[in-house]
Amino acid sequence: MKINVLILPGDGIGAEVTREAVRVLTRVCDKFGHQANLTEGLLGGIAIHKTGGPLPEETVRLALAADATLMGAVGLPEFDNVAPEKRPEKGLLGIRKVLGVYANLRPVKTYKALIDSSPLKNHLVEGTDMIIVRELTGGLYYGTPRGISGEGDQERGVNTMTYTRAEIARISRMAFHLARNRRKKVTSVDKSNVLETSQLWRKVVVEVAAEFPDVQLDHLLVDNCAMQLVLNPRRFDVVVTENMFGDILSDEGAVLAGSIGMLPSASIGDRKPSGAWAGLYEPVHGSAPDIAGQNKANPLGAIGSVAALLEYSFGLKEEAAAVNAAMEAVLNSGRVTADLKPAGAPATTAEVGQAVCEAI
Ligand code: NAD
Repeated sequence: MKINVLILPGDGIGAEVTREAVRVLTRVCDKFGHQANLTEGLLGGIAIHKTGGPLPEETVRLALAADATLMGAVGLPEFDNVAPEKRPEKGLLGIRKVLGVYANLRPVKTYKALIDSSPLKNHLVEGTDMIIVRELTGGLYYGTPRGISGEGDQERGVNTMTYTRAEIARISRMAFHLARNRRKKVTSVDKSNVLETSQLWRKVVVEVAAEFPDVQLDHLLVDNCAMQLVLNPRRFDVVVTENMFGDILSDEGAVLAGSIGMLPSASIGDRKPSGAWAGLYEPVHGSAPDIAGQNKANPLGAIGSVAALLEYSFGLKEEAAAVNAAMEAVLNSGRVTADLKPAGAPATTAEVGQAVCEAI
């Protein structure tokens, strides 16, 4: 299979962890006989330095031509005080829009070797393995009218939460498809006891569920879901929810796994003419200026994003499993970076990447 991927290393540790992720992608393609066609582009602070803007035209062209995009992270402290539209992070919002990705997938999985770094008691968190599917382009963050108007005591802020049937149906279908390849359970999260958007959400999810009789569906109110994530995280397989609820719940889910450096994420759109699913894959973390350039960053979030790319954009489950198994083997071997190993001699970013390649 041809694996056409645009690589956007970005800034700070983004470039360091992406280097290792690319090594792993190349290694897994070699092993399974796929042809990796990798191009590289500019995004974020480095793009501002080289072209004057955070998302150059050339990057847009390359992203549309590729089947999937693998990104590091963007952000440089020198841009902290400039206007939002001139910041590196603007490039990230732009590339998501260009790619038309509407579903953000955040896998939350606890590894045996890291169980002690979870803030929860071991017996609660052990065996947790879920995906939180967050709707990414609708809801409260994009609805209109919005803004602040009036003066004095009458000054008023307004945001609008809005969803169409079509938006709810496409994200629900994505969740059910994912569940089909896992433990066949979808939990839809809403606030239907208060919000009309949630009542429509629940109605449409139930209708879509009829297309997937082999998948079990249950519903949770968002406040109860926030509680269940820490009381009984093992109960979840695929969680699907709207934009703002997903934003909050996915960060809550993130801390279950321990270090932020471990977490991959995937943002998926529609199928491309090639048959692959358009997708943007990136670790959850930022450019970490405090450790940039020191070969200290944990590359496993970026490497986990390679596994997600293989599985979700190209349907290559065996290859994705090989990457995940190699990551687990490396974690068990103790060759891990300082964020996972406060005492003793930690491995470098490059050493962890090399160890994963060897394990594959
Ligand atoms: P951050 O995620 O970059 O760092 C937070 C803390 O976690 C830091 O102490 C850092 O050293 C540590 N950390 C992060 N990733 C790590 C890794 N792989 N291995 C070991 N330790 C790791 O968040 P921040 O400090 O709030 O933001 C720094 C810059 O990154 C800002 O410019 C911000 O806007 C940007 N940012 C970008 C993205 C993105 O590109 N998707 C996401 C978040 C933040």
